[in-house]
Amino acid sequence: MADQLIRATAADGGIRAVGVITTRLTEEARQRHKLSYVATAALGRAMSSGLLLASSMKREDSRVNIRIKGDGPLGGLLVDAGLDGTVRGYVTNPSVELPPNAVGKLDVGGAVGHNGYLYVVRDVGYGYPYSSTVELVSGEVGEDVAHYLVTSEQTPSALLVGVFVGSEGVTASGGILLQVMPKAARDEALVQTLDSRVSQLSGFTPLLRQGKAIPEIFQDLLGDMGLTIFPEVQMVRFNCRCSFNRVLGALKLLGVDELQDMIEKDDGAEATCDFCGEVYRANCDQLSQLIEDLQAESV
Ligand SMILES: [Zn+2]
Repeated sequence: MADQLIRATAADGGIRAVGVITTRLTEEARQRHKLSYVATAALGRAMSSGLLLASSMKREDSRVNIRIKGDGPLGGLLVDAGLDGTVRGYVTNPSVELPPNAVGKLDVGGAVGHNGYLYVVRDVGYGYPYSSTVELVSGEVGEDVAHYLVTSEQTPSALLVGVFVGSEGVTASGGILLQVMPKAARDEALVQTLDSRVSQLSGFTPLLRQGKAIPEIFQDLLGDMGLTIFPEVQMVRFNCRCSFNRVLGALKLLGVDELQDMIEKDDGAEATCDFCGEVYRANCDQLSQLIEDLQAESV
């Protein structure tokens, strides 16, 4: 099934539901960054979470950054997701592998670490990003983002994200977010109903692997609560905004002396984008051109 995001409401607008499939884009991230199994699961869960969080924003160019810094061997993780359905991300130590955890699943919590912080920055497009920090609950990513939503945004939320990755790559990845909207948030029964229904699911990827589509999952969860599924299906994809011109811009900031050094000692310059792994090379002619530009500007 193609990567996609679908929205729905239930309970007279009291519940907002979003589901996302990120199988292909998580596989792309795995290949770009040469991620281990557990690193694939951690980053895939975080990319799904980012797209789910970004889906509630208003302005077209709104973006969400999720940064997780735990005390585990993965080192750290950063995801940048947009309301436009684009997402990118990376982990600090992509090759970390751990034995399965006690329930036989990839030990994402062990890789991320059980202690540390989750940082969320919401850039709503007005130039004043809104940021907040919460302590990690488990390092399993989904629980941590759900904890952020409840404590920082005070929105009762149930979030389920998962990645299934095997020797043939990522075969299922995605997630679902159910939120009780402000006007219904005092309805304890509604909040509890959502919590118990989501906790009865044994995970998101088993549903995908059974061949269920997002509308069917919504139907199973909310079919008896006045479910309305929006007909728009939004495509989501891995996309980085880096470019050769941006790399040249960054090189130019180093100044004439350093550029001259690169020409003489390194025969050019090489830069790798953290977010997507793309390697950019600037040759000596291109570096000389930057020096000329700098000299022309300083006259
Ligand atoms: Zn990039």
